[in-house]
Amino acid sequence: MNITTNTGEQQSREDLVSAYHQLVEMGLMDQASGNISCRVNDGMLVSCSGATAKNLTPQRVVKVRDDGSYEGETKPSSEWRMHQGIYQRNQTANAVVHTHSDYCVAMACNNLALPGFHYMVGTFGGPDVPCVPYSTFGTESLANDAADALDGRAACLLGNHGMICRGSNFDIAIGHAERMEILCKHYVLARQLGEPDLLTDDQWDEFFGRAKKVAYSTFI
Ligand SMILES: [Zn+2]
Repeated sequence: MNITTNTGEQQSREDLVSAYHQLVEMGLMDQASGNISCRVNDGMLVSCSGATAKNLTPQRVVKVRDDGSYEGETKPSSEWRMHQGIYQRNQTANAVVHTHSDYCVAMACNNLALPGFHYMVGTFGGPDVPCVPYSTFGTESLANDAADALDGRAACLLGNHGMICRGSNFDIAIGHAERMEILCKHYVLARQLGEPDLLTDDQWDEFFGRAKKVAYSTFI
């Protein structure tokens, strides 16, 4: 599912619908919460406003150009600015996934960053995953905060809202969304036993040193 080159827009629309269904089947998106997008030559494709697994078709995927204009009568997700900001800031981002998945929301509603309590946190590019302050959905401030947080990180939590992540294709972005939900669940469980130990700076240095030699370095 490489959406970067040589796949026509129709194929990208079909890939987006397929990715959306995958996220719903994984239990990461309920009702019309969450939205996804991918980069195309002249802008991005994004799931439509009010998208659900039942109503999203390739034709209802909306192309939003770099200037924010869009084609057709179907409106893009109200959160399209977040997606656009991430593509503009990160040239390696070709797919973006935004969810309101359960444990990510539990963390985000306490405005908690996901700390470095487990080495897998490092697969998002740093020793923690930040949580940006709450802003109203669809606003430029939320878009700017998310794009800033995803500069050098693959994912962030959105205060009192959810999670957003990026990847070089849908498979990688979906993997990040799933891993964020698992790790937030692990952290919530670990907190029930006390205050989890965090990896030290030395341990992170060693982790990132090893990660350069194995597949983790390709995640971001
Ligand atoms: Zn949202």
